[in-house]
Amino acid sequence: MSSIPKLHDFAMRICAWHGEHGRHELPWQGGTDPYRIWLSEIMLQQTQVATVIPYYHRFLERFPDIETLAHATQEEVMPYWAGLGYYARARNLHRCAQVLMSEHGGRFPLSSEEIAQLPGIGRSTAAAIAAFSYGERSPIMDGNVKRVFTRFFGVHGYPGIRSVEQRLWALAEQALEQAPPELDMTAYTQGLMDLGSQTCRRGTPRCDVCPLASDCEAKRLGLQQALPEPRPRRPIPERQCAMLLLHGDGHVLLEMQPQTGVWGGLWSLPRFDSSQELVEACLAKGIVVPDAARMAGFVHVFTHFRLHIEPWLVEASPTIAEPLAEQRWVAFDELDQTAVPAPVRTLLDALPLGQAELRGG
Ligand code: SF4
Repeated sequence: MSSIPKLHDFAMRICAWHGEHGRHELPWQGGTDPYRIWLSEIMLQQTQVATVIPYYHRFLERFPDIETLAHATQEEVMPYWAGLGYYARARNLHRCAQVLMSEHGGRFPLSSEEIAQLPGIGRSTAAAIAAFSYGERSPIMDGNVKRVFTRFFGVHGYPGIRSVEQRLWALAEQALEQAPPELDMTAYTQGLMDLGSQTCRRGTPRCDVCPLASDCEAKRLGLQQALPEPRPRRPIPERQCAMLLLHGDGHVLLEMQPQTGVWGGLWSLPRFDSSQELVEACLAKGIVVPDAARMAGFVHVFTHFRLHIEPWLVEASPTIAEPLAEQRWVAFDELDQTAVPAPVRTLLDALPLGQAELRGG
């Protein structure tokens, strides 16, 4: 922790900056009614301020207090959220109002710890409600604030990982512990939010006008773009298969794919775990597979794995190769109307269609 910049004036610098550059005219600012603050905090999750403002006004006009919201039906509430997205927020809001009526006498509890027990309210939202409504000294840690903290303190690791998130909360708590008693929690909380959304922005942060620039680790090391670190990518599994493009007398052998598989309900080529298995299966039917039958392999990428395909172009009369129950010999001129997966369609283009027409003709 030796490289951590000074914490003692962190909160006061944010407050001073907010006084001059932060937002002061938002419709939910200036009051201490937890209902209105709660509504704005929930609407602002995943949603831009400009989008939220008209929804906020309309919602409050129809549901001006906890009681009105609690007594409405969910069907009455949802139209006032339609278009804002993330509809679980509206359902939780409605449920929370009912819990406030039934268990808290229609009022918000007086501490962030109790507020965080209510439906749909996490630790950061509870702290913001308590800070704006009661001036409680509790830290917040929403997406914007995480960005400020990871950059300013040079915290590596994806902030969605529990240990990284715990470190960020610990730093936020320390920043508050070291702040003087006269700290204005409304200015500090709003200032952190504003700094994250306006200055320490996701793309290119505006370090030139940032009040934290002189001690910022990310700025010192040129890591503004690298922090916060993105969600680690899981390696995509690699799978192999061999595909048999068995054709003869103007027909090709296709196989119906099981409903539960990635190509469920489509016709594909007979598939084997390896080229060796393919060759052995052909031999068992009396079909010889020469080395020259091997085609160029390719990779097909699914969302959750990569399939390395080794195709084999083999000729045999349908009278020799008796199809299995899930297989069918399909005439070349029916292939256009047959539902096959994209990579199989590409392989079917390799069929000697001209020869079939000659034979058929
Ligand atoms: S100096 Fe730049 S990177 Fe550091 S907190 Fe400020 S805006 Fe963010």
